[in-house]
Amino acid sequence: MDTNMLIGKSIEAGQDAKETILNPRNGETIIELPEASRDQIDRAVFWAKKAFSQWSRTTPAERSACLLKIADRIEASAEEFARLESLNCGKPYGAVLNDEIPAIVDCFRYFAGAVRCTTTTAAGEYLEGFTSMLRRDPIGVVASIAPWNYPLMMTAWKLAPAIGGGNTVVFKPSEQTPLTALHLVNILASELPEGVVNVVLGRGETVGNALINHPDVDMISITGDIATGKKVMEAASKSVKRTHLELGGKAPVIVFDDADIDLVVAGLKDFGYYNAGQDCTAACRIYVGDSVYEKLVADLSAAVSTIQYNNEDDETNDIGPLISLRQRERVASFVERASNQKHIEVVTGGKTLPGNGFYYEPTVIAGALQSDEIVRKEVFGPVVSVTRFSDVEDAVSWANDSDYGLASSIWTRDVSKAMATAARLQYGCTWINTHFMLTNEMPHGGMKRSGYGKDMSMYALDDYTAIRHVMIAH
Ligand code: NAD
Repeated sequence: MDTNMLIGKSIEAGQDAKETILNPRNGETIIELPEASRDQIDRAVFWAKKAFSQWSRTTPAERSACLLKIADRIEASAEEFARLESLNCGKPYGAVLNDEIPAIVDCFRYFAGAVRCTTTTAAGEYLEGFTSMLRRDPIGVVASIAPWNYPLMMTAWKLAPAIGGGNTVVFKPSEQTPLTALHLVNILASELPEGVVNVVLGRGETVGNALINHPDVDMISITGDIATGKKVMEAASKSVKRTHLELGGKAPVIVFDDADIDLVVAGLKDFGYYNAGQDCTAACRIYVGDSVYEKLVADLSAAVSTIQYNNEDDETNDIGPLISLRQRERVASFVERASNQKHIEVVTGGKTLPGNGFYYEPTVIAGALQSDEIVRKEVFGPVVSVTRFSDVEDAVSWANDSDYGLASSIWTRDVSKAMATAARLQYGCTWINTHFMLTNEMPHGGMKRSGYGKDMSMYALDDYTAIRHVMIAH
């Protein structure tokens, strides 16, 4: 197992407090890893700054070639990466290998192509006697901070557009899930010039905090909780750093009376519970038309009770445990408070599993009202709430009535209704008759308190570069 960080070209262990990395399937310690010391953080930023002057002047073709090699190396080690991710997060191995790794490889390949195809307004004489042209230039040193739910995927989403755009990076994985980032260290060290990407380990309040407040960091990119995003904005305000924030979600799902209920149920079973619901786009807040409400609750409850988890034979598992005991306690407390409400019924699940793994039963909560905590707060677990509506206006206003604005979906056979409703939703993404599907060509990012950074697509390259005007007097 790779345990070392990357600072410039030095592959070295952290020198500060140790963090225990747990296996969520059984609660056992996988390894203890020391976090980066203040001196190591400063050296990582120093190397990133030093590397910037050369890397920022490489051609798009040179950067593209590096991204393609990184993609090839990850693909060639797909099984090792999938095993580590599965071990560290408890995800079923097959899900990582078949769903996540191809998307991660494709992310590096997409940006390898995208950096060679950037476009802007044409150069020209917009003032008589002067020629204007636009440049798209990198920002500088990016501090990139990732969450624990898709560790390697978040690494790809953050590194590929940042270095593709000519920036250099100090990357900090989540202290709970650093194993795949550490496995990537050797690949990064051999495929990139020294200092272009540095990887440091550590907790948010120590290493993360030092990075976001570092005077030589020019941009902060973070995927995490809203509270963490606010800390990033406070830190950034001191020196006016650029920020890229991806901060969670509470995706509304509007199911109209004319929807294909079998399709909806199959979709919710997959898209509400994938990764044990630890997904910022999870289909977790369902609004269902009156006439199909009873059928949907009954069918969804039956479908969700067949979700496989905690089986000896991992190949039969659909989902894994939650990431930590703390996360499971958080999820359980949400369900407990919900079930204490008279109008709410827990129709499936609702319990923690005995044993040392951090498992929680896939849960369906029916009868939830818009004012309920379970409808309003991000649970980040395998829990879906169902709320009845009789007026479309209510469904749309309840869907929008949220702090979050990342993802949403609409289910109907009427394309006009779908398009009219999609136009009114205040979410970074609205799916119609599906949910959760991402592709590297399309942006992923939020509105409202879900943040404003775009991952994937040309829009991520926009976020990691600055548009500059160069004007020549004739
Ligand atoms: P978190 O905010 O606790 O941690 C995210 C990262 O920030 C970790 O690396 C952590 O060490 C670091 N961090 C924490 N405090 C910090 C500080 N003071 N300064 C600097 N860094 C700090 O979030 P989490 O629990 O790891 O992840 C779950 C959250 O992430 C959920 O809210 C989820 O919705 C969100 N998320 C959002 C997206 C998206 O695309 N919008 C994707 C995945 C996860």
